[in-house]
Amino acid sequence: MQFQKQNSKASILLIYTGGTIGMKEDPIEQTLKPFDFKQILEAVPELGKFACRIDSYTFDPLIDSSDVEPSMWQALAALIRDNYGSYDGFVVLHGTDTMAYTASALSFMLENLDKPVIFTGSQLPIGKPRTDGRENLISAVEIASTKNEEGRAMVPEVAIFFDSVLLRGNRSTKVKSEQFDAFQSYNCPPLAEAGISIRYNNTIERSGEQCANSLTISEKLDTRVSILKVHPGITPQVVKNILLGPETRAVIIETYGSGNAPTKDWFIRIVEEAASMDKILINVSQCLCGSVNMSLYATGKKLENAGVISGHDLTTESALAKLFYLMGKYPKNNEVKRLMGENLRGEISK
Ligand code: ASP
Repeated sequence: MQFQKQNSKASILLIYTGGTIGMKEDPIEQTLKPFDFKQILEAVPELGKFACRIDSYTFDPLIDSSDVEPSMWQALAALIRDNYGSYDGFVVLHGTDTMAYTASALSFMLENLDKPVIFTGSQLPIGKPRTDGRENLISAVEIASTKNEEGRAMVPEVAIFFDSVLLRGNRSTKVKSEQFDAFQSYNCPPLAEAGISIRYNNTIERSGEQCANSLTISEKLDTRVSILKVHPGITPQVVKNILLGPETRAVIIETYGSGNAPTKDWFIRIVEEAASMDKILINVSQCLCGSVNMSLYATGKKLENAGVISGHDLTTESALAKLFYLMGKYPKNNEVKRLMGENLRGEISK
């Protein structure tokens, strides 16, 4: 499907993966199911008014993003690589439930990215009168096609546009299941805000690696990661199962506050045992805002001494994606541990 304008300025590849934005009600099952991409474009005729060319690509099968798998991230990264030279920017329509995971993963897998990859979706299907999808899609296309005075992409990175704000992809989390302002990025200011015009935040730092070389993708992902969420009443057996399981190479420990966990001997002993097995143990806070600081309290210090590494202010989504990416790339755990503490794509404040 193509919209052409005579004075073509930019070209955008619109990639449709599924999600609420393109769903309609199945009258028999009374559930939401994906519909044909042409119907989205018919529902948003405004797209034809942009002074840019918009081509589209539809994934088959279309999915509810709860079904997303790393294989889909690999296919998405390869699609962007294969079309990188032909487009100025990419807009990815994706379900909101796992959008922050996919955006985080793509931010790491796309190396030396210097074009926009803007994710968006909606809380209400585009066919509904009060949909938020139309506005999200139109603004995402505008952002993906906007260039600065030097002719470079205004947003040369992976981002999520949702309800008037553009957020860094690997800093975003879905925080609301019913309201339109579904995404937040508590530890990183918005990259842009859309009102009467779209106002870009020019003070935002980009990671140094961007623009240095041409785009390559890192497709190999190692998914041997578990997540341990500490909670009052957690038992030694549960902690053992997650931390010592032979199938995990890394564990994200979701701790309290600034990186605190139970100080009971049994807990610390299991953590030490996991560290002695060379597991990669990353401390990420259950708080959405703020950073892990293991030197602040004795409880955090115990974890640090036991071999746990600070995840700083990484979101869990970003920590998971970064581990998949780094473990796929580096066979040595020491290298992965070192790079988990580095700011690779603007994912941590450092
Ligand atoms: N379950 C849907 C999905 O993530 C929700 C949405 O798109 O908002 O695919």
